[in-house]
Amino acid sequence: MIDTHSHIYSQEFDADIDAVIERALKAGVEKVILANVDTGSLDKIINLWKKNPEFFIPTIGLHPTECNEGEQSSQLYELEKVIEEYPFRAFGETGIDLYWDKEHLKEQTDAFQWHIDYSTQKNLPLIIHVRDAFPEVIDILRKNSSKNMRGVIHSFTGTEKDALDILETGDFYFGINGVVTFKKSNLPDALAKIGSDKLLLETDAPYLAPVPFRGKRNEPAYMTETMNKLASIFGCSNTEIDKITTQNAKTLFNI
Ligand SMILES: [Zn+2]
Repeated sequence: MIDTHSHIYSQEFDADIDAVIERALKAGVEKVILANVDTGSLDKIINLWKKNPEFFIPTIGLHPTECNEGEQSSQLYELEKVIEEYPFRAFGETGIDLYWDKEHLKEQTDAFQWHIDYSTQKNLPLIIHVRDAFPEVIDILRKNSSKNMRGVIHSFTGTEKDALDILETGDFYFGINGVVTFKKSNLPDALAKIGSDKLLLETDAPYLAPVPFRGKRNEPAYMTETMNKLASIFGCSNTEIDKITTQNAKTLFNI
């Protein structure tokens, strides 16, 4: 398995990151993509990657909830300075979040566009966060659909229609985490229609731990629960889901 979206560089893991890595490897997680959220977290990502470049994959980006007034342009300017310095494998996470922040849609949109421009210029994938904002995100992607975009809608919780609209604009995958194991989730129905050849596994650790760990700190080793759930949705073996989603991740992130 490859955990395609993780924040295990955050302070929640400072005390036991080595044990977390060990449990991940034991569970069959061969690589973890560290999704950047702002300039402040980039050092932590780079430090982890330097210690374990075979296991960790760094990305560069500014999370939509970090796009507060005036701040996003200075943060993006700081990020621009280091784009060439490290082997970043994706731009993100970016996107639109109108759940936590309804007031800075303009700033979030500008920052999202920055990521789209760089990612298409450098032929690297986008990591896109969408919360209460599928119409806005689809609108922005449509405006850019001539640009050969590719990437992942991480922590996908949309409908089949959302997925189809997004697929019309570029070469996109959908990142699936613990949410799919939650009792009230409508996601299994949508995923069954979208098909496993468009899915990636992720944790979004420390958030969104799958059942039976729901509410606890999430970590890559728990991703087996998400894999098992996908296997039951698609009526196939865990090994099959592992194979398909790992290959999807390798294709998208050039691993
Ligand atoms: Zn994230």
